[in-house]
Amino acid sequence: MAFKAPRGTRDILPDEASRWEFLENSFRERCRLYGFQEIRTPIFEHTELFVRSVGESSDIVSKEMYTFHDRSGRSLTLRPEGTAAVVRAYLENGLHEKPHPVKLYYFGPMFRYDRPQAGRYRQFHQFGLELFGSPQPSADVEIMALSYDMLRSLPLPEFRLELNSVGCRECRPGYRERLREYLRFREEELCPDCSRRYRENPLRVLDCKKPECKDLSAGAPLLTQSLCPQCAGHLARVRELLERLELPYVLNPRLVRGLDYYTRTAFEFVAPELGAQASLGGGGRYDALVEECGGPPTPGVGVAFGLERIILLADWKERLEAGPVPVFLAVAGEGLEEEALLLAREIRALGVPAEVELGGRSLKSQMKYAGKKGFARVIIIGSRELEQDRFLWRDMVDGSQVLVSREELRQRLLEQEG
Ligand code: AMP
Repeated sequence: MAFKAPRGTRDILPDEASRWEFLENSFRERCRLYGFQEIRTPIFEHTELFVRSVGESSDIVSKEMYTFHDRSGRSLTLRPEGTAAVVRAYLENGLHEKPHPVKLYYFGPMFRYDRPQAGRYRQFHQFGLELFGSPQPSADVEIMALSYDMLRSLPLPEFRLELNSVGCRECRPGYRERLREYLRFREEELCPDCSRRYRENPLRVLDCKKPECKDLSAGAPLLTQSLCPQCAGHLARVRELLERLELPYVLNPRLVRGLDYYTRTAFEFVAPELGAQASLGGGGRYDALVEECGGPPTPGVGVAFGLERIILLADWKERLEAGPVPVFLAVAGEGLEEEALLLAREIRALGVPAEVELGGRSLKSQMKYAGKKGFARVIIIGSRELEQDRFLWRDMVDGSQVLVSREELRQRLLEQEG
């Protein structure tokens, strides 16, 4: 019986993996420029951490978590998102006692039991940023600016930044009641999910993509009109700074993120080309989260990107990092493997990727193989040439072949950086 990968998971094969590597390197480099440092947390955590932070009424906790009991009966959950675990680690390891702001980034797989479709998986990867210890609008904008820089470092088509404020502990409860009031007489027309949301967290109805719910909430009161003066001032300053930095955004008063911990700023990077799963990443402020997880009151702001979607959307032609062109070392005749191994070592020491013949094949099949694998150049080692410390240099593109000395070989390998 042949095994298949579980539904909602996928393999990343070598061709695609090189894109992941490029993306990761590029994101890491931008984090370095902004002074964010990496944190790696476990893939599973105590279930209670997510229930408390992400929120019991959220879709993630109520129906999407991979929760299991280990052999000693503890309830554990494969992380469905990154922020909760980073907050836990920040508190547990005393990072909250270090000079602030503390600026972290993470990268890794997340797990959600969702209905799989293009761009939506049960195991997917996120790259996220978290900034602890600043209540200032400039911190929100720093996160958005770095997000922009990361996305712009990739060959992505058009995307836009949508911005909203979801209020705070002071002004949101009042708005929630006003919204519930508005939806009260329309509850029966909501989709089954929104009917539950109406009772538990009516703000999420605003974000539903189903046409019936969209229509219904079209005339609902807007959060941006119910903000307390502090929240309204915060949003206004964020907008001013974005404009000053020339980071384009659109205000979307219906934007509500799926995680309950957000306060004030909420934002999303959207790529219309992706259709139903258009959100590349999103984030916002979470000023109460650290305290809710048992720490001192500490404001925070962050973002998480879904990497599968970004990889899918980018136009990767010609964009991968240019480096020295790889070379294949073929042997013409028996007993020359060790020469090939030795020469390969020399070439690799120059920083040029080199592969050697390992199959004991005829020269003809080696050439065929090199052609199929897309090597643009091959070095052929023959015993007669070797006696004079020379090699055959074959250009696979035009089929030409020349005899070169060891020194010339080095020159050619180095000169011909792509
Ligand atoms: P969230 O943690 O829900 O705010 O999601 C942040 C980003 O992660 C989204 O904008 C998506 O790009 C990505 N994402 C969320 N859920 C999935 C999923 N099931 N499959 C693939 N990507 C996802």
